[in-house]
Amino acid sequence: MQAVPMVDLKAQYALIKSEIDNGIQEVMDSMAFINGPAVKAFQTELSHYLGGAEVIACANGTDALQIAMMALGLQPGDEVITANFTYVATAEVIALLQLKPVLVDVDPHTFNIDVAAVEKAITPRTKAIVPVHLFGQCADMAPLLALAEKHQLYVIEDTAQAIGADYTFPDGRVAKAGTMGTIGCTSFFPSKNLGCYGDGGAIFTRDAVLANKIRMIANHGQSVQYYHDEVGVNSRLDSIQAAILRAKLPHLDRYNASRAAAAAYYTEAFNKVSWLTTPRLAANSTHVFHQYTLQLGEGVDREAFRAHLTALGIPCMIYYPVPLHEQKAYAQHGHYPVTEALCKSVVSLPMHSELGEETLARIVEGVRAF
Ligand SMILES: *Cc1c(COP(=O)(O)O)cnc(C)c1O
Repeated sequence: MQAVPMVDLKAQYALIKSEIDNGIQEVMDSMAFINGPAVKAFQTELSHYLGGAEVIACANGTDALQIAMMALGLQPGDEVITANFTYVATAEVIALLQLKPVLVDVDPHTFNIDVAAVEKAITPRTKAIVPVHLFGQCADMAPLLALAEKHQLYVIEDTAQAIGADYTFPDGRVAKAGTMGTIGCTSFFPSKNLGCYGDGGAIFTRDAVLANKIRMIANHGQSVQYYHDEVGVNSRLDSIQAAILRAKLPHLDRYNASRAAAAAYYTEAFNKVSWLTTPRLAANSTHVFHQYTLQLGEGVDREAFRAHLTALGIPCMIYYPVPLHEQKAYAQHGHYPVTEALCKSVVSLPMHSELGEETLARIVEGVRAF
């Protein structure tokens, strides 16, 4: 039996092959590989999709976070609060810039940053909060933004896993993930909900002055060629990747809806399985299911579960097996009961935009058989 893929980029490409191929061919015809028209057009189109926030494309999601922190003028020793349960990139750039990562626990149901824990972690040295919209749904932004405003802190949203998710504020206003804080950062890594065929990333902001500074820092600290006002970096999205993203962006909502439909299928099937906890939907955010992540009940042997699925040709992944505070590079003391429990119990099932009913049924059957 053929193995199920965790992410099926081949099937997705087959459906939009001519759009992608034409986009790449256009770049080849123009030979404008760097900062070509495709990059500018993609930035404009994504800005429109995001409801008007300015978009500055860059080389990857990690760079996006780094450039955001540089643009805000954060200084060595400044404290930046982020979630302990996340991909390493978030904490990595904080440490790289000699800022101090302050890790806080997450909500046991949404897996997103615990706002009460953020409040407790604020000190006079705190300068910014980095909520990660983990697995595809928004952190609880309304109370987080209120807290940030009260303490005059910047908010940098890591929306690498949640592009397209909508957050609804208590007053009914709806905003796209990545457009609510001071700056939003995303990644176009191939497996992300909007992925290119290499590396890519982008930075969002509604602040025009900040947008100019970000543009400058991403481009060697220059706004006029060969005049360098700041220490910057070289971080560009290349035109071929931009052409691929332009072809995919019009399909993003459909891709996200298809992921949500697959997630609903899984949840319907696993809801009543006593040893599984299905993902809880946040009250005020849509979920674009970058990952579909189950929690195994206490006493369930995760390695045995994984081996059982693997033998059936069904992959699964552990996002994430080790809390950041237990990683050698970021070791710190602290008590993070939710993060610690999640790292031991989570398991993510295959999730992508082309999961057919037959495959879903096979995965469900495999899980239930354990
Ligand atoms: C993927 C990811 C990143 C980093 O993106 P790259 O493009 O791989 O650098 C950052 N944060 C989160 C939460 C991610 O999932």
